Amino acid sequence: METLPCGHVAHASPIRLCEHLITEDPPQWARRLTGTAVEYDALCVPCADAEATPMVACVGCVEKIDRDLWTSAGWRGTPEIRHRDEPQSAPDSLPCEVIPLNDHCLAALPSGWLALTADGLVTIGGDKIHAVSLPAEEGEFNGRTAAPALHVSPDGRFAAVVTDYGRHGVVIDLADGSVALELDRGTYPPRRPRSRSPFWGTARWSRRRPGTASTDGSRRPANA
Ligand SMILES: [Zn+2]
Ligand SMILES: [Zn+2]
Repeated sequence: METLPCGHVAHASPIRLCEHLITEDPPQWARRLTGTAVEYDALCVPCADAEATPMVACVGCVEKIDRDLWTSAGWRGTPEIRHRDEPQSAPDSLPCEVIPLNDHCLAALPSGWLALTADGLVTIGGDKIHAVSLPAEEGEFNGRTAAPALHVSPDGRFAAVVTDYGRHGVVIDLADGSVALELDRGTYPPRRPRSRSPFWGTARWSRRRPGTASTDGSRRPANA
């Protein structure tokens, strides 16, 4: 492995930097699109505006700059618009006997679909059924009433059944149908918007392992 222009013997990042960002206290910077898809380089604002040529830097140097959205002064350039001038396949229509409870009770698995039905969690095309029970709720928000909703973790291992505009939720381990976490949005505020997926880092839920007596008191993501 050779020494990179940033001064480090490390793996090169596909994102290049201008020399002014290789410092402990970097100046304001911008992402400049390279013209290939949405690939970009990171340059200090004067270099970005002057179309200066960036240099190869290691993944560590780039991550130090690129991880913080709030220090970026925005974007320069335009992305590449790719065209696919060929017919797309026609959509198929297949009979399906699995009926989700509502439009928000169907979620994509890495291979296939999962639905929340009157019988519990059912995979479409498969016959896996896991019972789910949540406390009945009567919340409402801006004229919308509490209703069940389904989210699936990106790896398809866990499903979260939550009450939109309500308080409670539960995370089910799809491997065996066991309850991995109980979710609770608490009693404040009394009116709640739709439930965000607990698998997103920005979603706030209090979580409790089943069988434990109390919540841990924090409101943090349930990264099951
Ligand atoms: Zn610069
Ligand atoms: Zn470096």
